[in-house]
Amino acid sequence: MDHHERGFSGHCRCGERGRLLTSKTANNPGRLFFGCRFGDEKNQNHLFKWADESMVEEIEDMKPKINDLEKASLTLEKGLSA
Ligand SMILES: [Zn+2]
Repeated sequence: MDHHERGFSGHCRCGERGRLLTSKTANNPGRLFFGCRFGDEKNQNHLFKWADESMVEEIEDMKPKINDLEKASLTLEKGLSA
C-alpha cells in the first residue's frame, strides 16, 4: 500500500491505527474526525483528518472508478446483444 493520506484508511505515522473520533473542542464540538489517539485537532504531528472532508475525497476518488465500471458494463451489454 502507498502512504497517501486521502480517504478513511490508514495508520498514523507513529504506527497507531487511525480511528473515528469525536472532536471536543469549542471550535468543532461533536465533529467527527479520523485520527490517532495520541493526536488531536491541535497536535497534527499525528494522523488527523475531518471525517466530512475525508468523505468528499473518498467520493472524488470513486468517480473515475465508477466511470470505468459504467464503460465496462456498456461493453458487456454490447457484447451480449451482438
Ligand atoms: Zn499517532
